[in-house]
Amino acid sequence: MSELPFTVLERKRARNRLWARSNPDKMRTARRRWSVLKEPAIREIGRKILAASWGDSEPACRWDSLPWGHPLTNHSCFGPLEIDHILGGGHKDRAENGPLALAIARGNRSTTGLRFLCKLHQLWSLS
Ligand SMILES: [Zn+2]
Repeated sequence: MSELPFTVLERKRARNRLWARSNPDKMRTARRRWSVLKEPAIREIGRKILAASWGDSEPACRWDSLPWGHPLTNHSCFGPLEIDHILGGGHKDRAENGPLALAIARGNRSTTGLRFLCKLHQLWSLS
């Protein structure tokens, strides 16, 4: 009697395998839907990794890494945090690697040359 749940489970798995094999289109849709669903969680992992590389437990604006004495350092943070390229070249990087937080989480890109800046402190590159 104690083997019953195992047998039921096995039968269920076999049925699922059969269904998956005869419904490749539905499986493809389900896989795609699943990856869209888990993407925010993966992005969050990438953001945590970048934060950790700066010694932060949560993503935080690193306005203190702006050039010393930059006028923007006199202003407090404003707006959402975004990943900033310390030495520029963000457009090319995103074109090659896609969303940076995803690339970091998947191990396709290192955190070198990246930091979090709020919307306001990102304006430093315009000056
Ligand atoms: Zn800031």
